[in-house]
Amino acid sequence: MPFARLSSRRQFLRLGLGTLAALAVTTCMPGAWGSPLAMNVSPSAPLPPAKPRSPRLLVLDPGHGGHDPGALGLTDGTFEKNIVLDIARRVASALEDTPGVKVHLTRTEDLFLPLPERVALAQHLNADLFLSLHADSAPNSAARGLSTYVLSPHASDKLAGQIAARENVAGLTGPEDLNVDDPDVAAILFDLTTRRTRDVARRAQAGLVRLVGRKWPLLENPTRSANFAVLRSPEIPSVLVETGFLSNPHDEALLRQADQRQKIATLIAKSATSLLRSPLFG
Ligand SMILES: [Zn+2]
Repeated sequence: MPFARLSSRRQFLRLGLGTLAALAVTTCMPGAWGSPLAMNVSPSAPLPPAKPRSPRLLVLDPGHGGHDPGALGLTDGTFEKNIVLDIARRVASALEDTPGVKVHLTRTEDLFLPLPERVALAQHLNADLFLSLHADSAPNSAARGLSTYVLSPHASDKLAGQIAARENVAGLTGPEDLNVDDPDVAAILFDLTTRRTRDVARRAQAGLVRLVGRKWPLLENPTRSANFAVLRSPEIPSVLVETGFLSNPHDEALLRQADQRQKIATLIAKSATSLLRSPLFG
């Protein structure tokens, strides 16, 4: 395994603290900022060739998998895990030859992956942006449209809280993972998240909604926040995308069509490309 399995609160917190400490060490290293060597260049000396910008890495996380089907379609019994895996593969395929952008999927097959492992993988790969893809259900079958979430210890509204609780429970492997819904753990990790990470995540969320919303139905107030365990990377801007509600007949019918999954995948790929190439990501 290239990354540590995180199965307890202590391990999860250690990951958050460890990565933050590593980030602090990196940015405080001599020569990282304001190095005397860097300031010693004569104004008349030819400028060194510009360092090629390294590709930005998007980690796409198709939710659920294996024994966890995720939400079930109300009309046709569609499995969320299959819909989101297909969309993620299409996004990856759309970005395959895009200069400056690389993509990695947390799962490429119908396999169960616990939520903390998805977070750990993104951290191990040093992702620039993490997008978790879902298609949820709601008690009110009239609710429909795409919505997006960033991390907050407190849900932006009742539905956001219900959706986060369901997504968190679905990603458990056993009682040892119960910390994913612990508000204290969420609050600590939220505090560990740097202001820049939060800011970039919110701007990425807004940018994604703006572009996707031109051609895809949106839930009202599509920029939301809640305590999602899969969004708890202290230093990686992370956004969860609910592509639609399988509890709504229109959304389920939409997501069952291959051409519509291609459409939403293309919109997500375009949004991610434009975000990762923007000054937001350096
Ligand atoms: Zn889900």
